[in-house]
Amino acid sequence: MDLHQALRAASLPAGLTFQAYRHRTESDLKGAIRTGGAVRLVKGAFAEGKSIAFTHRREIDENFLRLAGMMLSEEARENGFYPIFGTHDDRIIDRIIRMAHRRGWPADAYEFEMLYGVRCRYQEQLVRSGAKLRLYLPFGTDWRPYAVRRVGECPQNAAFLIRSLVRR
Ligand SMILES: Cc1cc2nc3c(=O)[nH]c(=O)nc-3n(C[C@H](O)[C@H](O)[C@H](O)COP(=O)(O)OP(=O)(O)OC[C@H]3O[C@@H](n4cnc5c(N)ncnc54)[C@H](O)[C@@H]3O)c2cc1C
Repeated sequence: MDLHQALRAASLPAGLTFQAYRHRTESDLKGAIRTGGAVRLVKGAFAEGKSIAFTHRREIDENFLRLAGMMLSEEARENGFYPIFGTHDDRIIDRIIRMAHRRGWPADAYEFEMLYGVRCRYQEQLVRSGAKLRLYLPFGTDWRPYAVRRVGECPQNAAFLIRSLVRR
């Protein structure tokens, strides 16, 4: 967060990613909303201990929605804050869209982000419904560490990885 502040002070484009499973995210987010800028909220991909994080899916989802409520608050809008929701969870996305609509946020004042190749039909459906969606597309030659992390996060990705290696 210090690095982010230094980059913004130097007028460089930089944003933050916060994990909804972390207990400290609520206070970090309050600070980020106060100063404007952009935050991407994700559930969190790593195995963390109970002392620093929520570990049950239901708790993480509830906290995600609570934090999303802060990101779509009046204060956030007044401060020029830009909310970004990095999730493929359609139940959460539906609730965020309804919340944003109720609170008067236009569809282009916030965005969803998903991984390229994950739930492609749903991605198209979301864009057709008028939502703003950005796809996270890593590229480059050093693909192994990225691929290993994605498989750790979602074991079905092992099949995607093997298929794409075989096609090569
Ligand atoms: C743009 C972006 C940036 C991210 N940056 C970070 C970061 O900096 N730090 C961090 O800790 N985490 C990061 N993540 C990962 C995030 O924390 C979650 O682990 C991941 O997005 C899965 O959670 P979900 O919200 O999609 O919900 P889930 O409930 O896990 O998934 C919802 C649905 O999407 C499907 N799905 C989800 N992920 C995948 C996948 N990888 N492959 C195939 N199907 C999938 C599931 O099968 C499920 O049906 C990022 C995610 C995105 C989209």
